[in-house]
Amino acid sequence: MLSLDDYLKEAELAHGHLCAGQVLGVRMAMLGLRKLGIDDPRGKDRKRLVTFVEIDRCATDAVGVVTGCRLGKRALKFRDWGKMAATFVDVSTGCAYRIVARESSKELARRMHPEIESKNQQQMLGYREMKDEDLFDVQAVTVDLPPQEFPGYKGDRIVCARCGEGINFRREIVRDGETLCRACAGESYYRPVSEK
Ligand SMILES: [Zn+2]
Ligand SMILES: [Zn+2]
Repeated sequence: MLSLDDYLKEAELAHGHLCAGQVLGVRMAMLGLRKLGIDDPRGKDRKRLVTFVEIDRCATDAVGVVTGCRLGKRALKFRDWGKMAATFVDVSTGCAYRIVARESSKELARRMHPEIESKNQQQMLGYREMKDEDLFDVQAVTVDLPPQEFPGYKGDRIVCARCGEGINFRREIVRDGETLCRACAGESYYRPVSEK
């Protein structure tokens, strides 16, 4: 594992700026790796780790940088729960830890550095200095990860009976004997512009 400073440099580059979220994300991921005993997540241990993130904010980018887990490698799973939390799963052992940033950490950063006016600067410094146990709550958890959720899984590809688009990884929905994609099954997040 690299040092906090080295990871922060990489996170700044990947994310476009250094912010309190980067510090939080880097420390969260480093703690997760330490708990799992994974030392080289982007090298020799790269097939061992799957990470679930629960928020789409700054910290998530930093978690990706440290762990090497990427959406496109299917090693990063997004659950849109709006929580500053992530779960680190060692798929070789089934061990997993969910780590959540404590709500009280903001207030603690304020008390540690009342002299700093900018909230972001105050939290950036505070989150660097705080003890892990002041910054995070850690829970040992079990994550049910079916085979099709694993990074290297090769599954059948199916075609939607209505729109004809291909669907990977058992994301289809079978209803009344018809195999549908999620859009045609009514879960669409878009509609064609001609529909008013
Ligand atoms: Zn940011
Ligand atoms: Zn369809």
